[in-house]
Amino acid sequence: MALVTAEDCRKSLDNRAVRLERLVKEGEALHAKGQLTLRNLDALRESALLDLYTSFELFLEDLFFAVLLGSSGISDSGGVVNFSDREQAEEILTGGNQYLIWLPFDKNGKGVLPLAKRLLKDGRPFTRIERHKDELDTLEELRIVRNAIAHRSSSARAALEPFVTHLRQRRRTAAGLLEQVRQGQSQYESYSATVRQIGVALASAEDALARKFLSPERPYAPKANAPTGRYRCTRCAKRHQIRAKTAALPACPVCRKGRAKGQPKVAQEWDRVYA
Ligand SMILES: [Zn+2]
Repeated sequence: MALVTAEDCRKSLDNRAVRLERLVKEGEALHAKGQLTLRNLDALRESALLDLYTSFELFLEDLFFAVLLGSSGISDSGGVVNFSDREQAEEILTGGNQYLIWLPFDKNGKGVLPLAKRLLKDGRPFTRIERHKDELDTLEELRIVRNAIAHRSSSARAALEPFVTHLRQRRRTAAGLLEQVRQGQSQYESYSATVRQIGVALASAEDALARKFLSPERPYAPKANAPTGRYRCTRCAKRHQIRAKTAALPACPVCRKGRAKGQPKVAQEWDRVYA
C-alpha cells in the first residue's frame, strides 16, 4: 500500500465535507419546496454535523500517523520515535486497550496537540494553529455543538446555551444554530468551511504557506518561549530575531527606555513576521 501523505489526508477530508455540504443543500431545497419537513431537515443537518466532526477526527488521526511515520511530505516534520508501521505505532501508543483522543484539539493535556508535542518533532504541523484563537474557538464550539447532538444530556445542552441564546425560543437547539444564516452563509456551511480551511493549513508542506489560510496569530508576550523566526515589537516595530530552535523573547529594549520617560503603559508584545 502506498504511504499516506498529508495531501491524501486533506483530500479525503475535503471530499467528505463537500459531500455533506451538498446533502444539506439538497435537504434545504426540498424543504423550501415543501417536500421535507423542518423536523427532518433538522435531523439531516444534525447528522451532517456529526459526520463532519468524525471526518475531522479521522483527518487528524491519519495526518498524525502520516507525520509520525515520516510519509507526510511536510517539511521539517517527523516522529521523535521510530515505528515500523502504523499498526505497531497504534499498538504501542494505545497500550493495546485505551484509544487516542484527537479532539478537543488541546484541553487539559488531552487532544492531538499535546500528543503531537510529545511524539512529533516540534509538534509539527499541529502547533501551526496553537496561537490562532479564531480557529481554536471554532473547533471548541464545534465540539460543544456535536456533544449537544450526540449526548442530549442536560450538561451538553447547558454548554450549548451561550451559542443559541439569540435564537427564537423554539429554535434554541443545535439544529436551530446550524440553520442560522449570516452574510449569506449558514452556520453549518461556516463550520464546514473552517474545518476545511484548518485541513489545508495543517496539511500544507510549508509553515509560511499554512499561515495564509489562518486568522492572525496571537502575539507573544516578553519572556514567552517562541520558535525560530523574526519578530516585530507591537509598539515601536523594532525587530528581533530568534536563531535557536526556541528561545525566550526579551522585553523590547526601545520600549523599555520609552516607558521610563513616562510613555503610556500599553503592554508591549511581539508579532511573528513571516515575510
Ligand atoms: Zn518596542
